[in-house]
Amino acid sequence: MTGRILIVDDMDSNIRVLSAKLEAEYYDVLIANSGADAILTARQEQPDLILLDVMMPVMDGFETCRQLKKDPITQHIPVVMVTALDQQKDRVDGLQAGADDFLSKPIDDIALFARVRSLLRLNSVMNELRLRDASGRPEGATAAIASLPKSAGGRILVVEESERYGLRIAEKLGEPYSCQVVTDQRAAAELAEQDFDLVLINLATKEFDGLRLCANVRAKEASRQMPILCMINPEERERSVRALDIGANDILERPVERFELRARVRTLLERRFYTEQLRGNLDQSLELAFTDQLTGLFNRRHLDNRLKELSNRASQGAETGVVLMIDIDHFKNINDTWGHQAGDAILQQIAKQIRSSFRAIDISCRYGGEEFVILMPRADLQSAKAGADRFRKAIGGFEFPVEPDGKTIRITVSGGLAVLGADETGEQALARADAALYHAKKNGRNRMIAATKKSEINQVAS
Ligand SMILES: [Mg+2]
Repeated sequence: MTGRILIVDDMDSNIRVLSAKLEAEYYDVLIANSGADAILTARQEQPDLILLDVMMPVMDGFETCRQLKKDPITQHIPVVMVTALDQQKDRVDGLQAGADDFLSKPIDDIALFARVRSLLRLNSVMNELRLRDASGRPEGATAAIASLPKSAGGRILVVEESERYGLRIAEKLGEPYSCQVVTDQRAAAELAEQDFDLVLINLATKEFDGLRLCANVRAKEASRQMPILCMINPEERERSVRALDIGANDILERPVERFELRARVRTLLERRFYTEQLRGNLDQSLELAFTDQLTGLFNRRHLDNRLKELSNRASQGAETGVVLMIDIDHFKNINDTWGHQAGDAILQQIAKQIRSSFRAIDISCRYGGEEFVILMPRADLQSAKAGADRFRKAIGGFEFPVEPDGKTIRITVSGGLAVLGADETGEQALARADAALYHAKKNGRNRMIAATKKSEINQVAS
């Protein structure tokens, strides 16, 4: 995976070494010599990843990182802190400033590329989500992304070879997290599919194969999005590279230091929270895209998709169904006499009646104006006609309020039905239902008429 990487360092020699390494792997490299320069470049160029030197004059790496993570335009870009001193305090300060990861100078190539690949992979998922999210909203509106409350905990699955070690980790993690310790690989893979927020796996063990467990967790649908944090021994750098490539999100060196453990867990949970919100926003905007705003029924776009599906199944002989088209009689008069507000209220009332009259598996749509279409999968014409008539009679018996003082009117509906045949498209079936509806109107309205065969209308009024 390629990507644009911003290198931030006050020393030209450092920049030269690092950019040569990255360019040799076909990454696009951007350069900044100071914190202020980094912030400006990040805002303008939107790199996929930032490698940030900690020790810089004027504005150091921590402050630069804090500012990048505070700015809505740059906060999603992963930041890797490059620290000269491999000190725990730097790591903790960096994580608190919002850094996503660390590399120590001199930079080890294997570690560098493993981190870069893992973060770029994550970033591409996030970008995809952000783009889809942004496309679902009106221009100029930005996503309302909340941050994870400070007090938020999480359920953590700790996979350790001995229960005693596991419990020690759980103790270090402490409040507000609740931990379950498991020592068996198979049990761990099953538990990971349940209601946990993060899995913590010890890779430095002979009792089970931690890398295989990582792969299992990633492979299963129920745990695919689960954050994985792996613990390794410092001398096992190869394993951590493998783990990151298999899908671990982060690596923690043993012996596990309490602050670093808590900071890394927190960062992973925040990232998951952020991604889930974007997914949530996405679901919501998808829902909006397929729903009619006024009535809450499905819209025509959704109908088109479902009709296509259903008629495909019908053409394969798998199952058939009925399509019903409904129109409110003399609706134009209602709008003209009582106003659009009264008309809208009637449309909403009718939508409500549609929802309660038809089966749960039926797909109810507002087709446009005062027209509705009900798709009835697996229904036969006779029972569909009976359902349509029950709905028609329910509407006929209803008093629709049209004025605040309680004035009500009665209205009627007409409809046409057609079976989804094996030898025609959904559109053709819909056209036959429409033709049947036309006959219902011609024959005095307040009736449901079924088209029995292709282009032949059964004119039996009810
Ligand atoms: Mg420096």
